Amino acid sequence: MSGDVVGSVEMLRRLVAFDTTSRKSNLALIEYVGEYLRAHGVASTLVPNDEQTKANLYATIGPDADGGIVLSGHTDVVPVDGQPWDSDPWTLTDGDDKLFGRGTCDMKAFSAVVLALLPEFQRAGLKVPIHLALSYDEEIGCLGAHTLVERLMGDVKRPRAVIVGEPTMMGVVNAQNSGGGLITTFTGVEAHSSMTHLGVSAIHFAGQFIHFLNELQGELAARQRADTDMVPGHTTINVGVINGGTAGNILARECVMNWGYRTLPDGDPTEVQRRAEAYLADTLLPAMRRRHTGADIRTRRRSFVAGIRPEENREAEALALQWTGGNRTYAVPYATEAGIFRAAGIPTVICGPGDIAQAHQPNEFILKSQIDACESFMRRLMVWAARQP
Ligand SMILES: [Zn+2]
Repeated sequence: MSGDVVGSVEMLRRLVAFDTTSRKSNLALIEYVGEYLRAHGVASTLVPNDEQTKANLYATIGPDADGGIVLSGHTDVVPVDGQPWDSDPWTLTDGDDKLFGRGTCDMKAFSAVVLALLPEFQRAGLKVPIHLALSYDEEIGCLGAHTLVERLMGDVKRPRAVIVGEPTMMGVVNAQNSGGGLITTFTGVEAHSSMTHLGVSAIHFAGQFIHFLNELQGELAARQRADTDMVPGHTTINVGVINGGTAGNILARECVMNWGYRTLPDGDPTEVQRRAEAYLADTLLPAMRRRHTGADIRTRRRSFVAGIRPEENREAEALALQWTGGNRTYAVPYATEAGIFRAAGIPTVICGPGDIAQAHQPNEFILKSQIDACESFMRRLMVWAARQP
């Protein structure tokens, strides 16, 4: 084993240099990580997507035993398009107490620390394994993690807990909302804009649907829950992208809406989709078809991630609190890969370096002190893992 010894910051510099924007391939980064692990004598398994353009990676450090800990990170980052960066997003840039670069906070620093500490993990005398799990397409709906979790859980002995290293300032998060992403496509009938009686505008009907979602949002917000750490304490809905029409003087033939919702962990995760689809099928589609039988509305689910609830993650919570030295837990309103691991039956918490407030922003950064805190967490984890029976 002759792998080079690399500090966390240097490893972060290397990972940031790979432009792994979700729409691009992550294979160069995955191959680099696989090669680095191999140089240190650690075998890894790739789980590619159908098109072979992206891959998840998992690897086990330490013995082939149950009761291990999964350390989970995503390799993709959000786009920098149109963002006013003061430095090259793909070059780790030093700024006193901060390190700038796309993915520094969300969430390459966590993976960089784990990789940099690999030689220490190997020397620690682990009695239970550490499983490293790196996914693709987290930022566009946790798409890669489903096959990753399936393969990992089928391959390794049952882990005791999962730590998802999304940015929480190393706080222990034991609750997250569920989240669903949907694409609704309205198909109308083109006509000259002066001849509205001859066609059906897909955009005008999409507008009615947005109005319905706004009303539903208001109703759900009125059901605000006081007994939750979640902010806001209610289900939320967002229409993120809308595309339709070809010209100002044509009734739009098509309008496509990319929208989604997040539901409190003990709320009904199907309610928003169910009620939206009922409105589309019972009210809007008949109204469009009365204008023209060729009109149509189709909705497909783009993504779904289950929520996690504190009660089901106590074991992971207790361990993570021991390793952070913290004494309280937190809840987050967004959906992470934690929901996918939890759905596979493993206690899961979210705990990683960096502040979610910097995620997805121009001039994204991570505090150097957060990298130190993550290293301390990993070293306490090592000591724990070396003391297991
Ligand atoms: Zn993330």
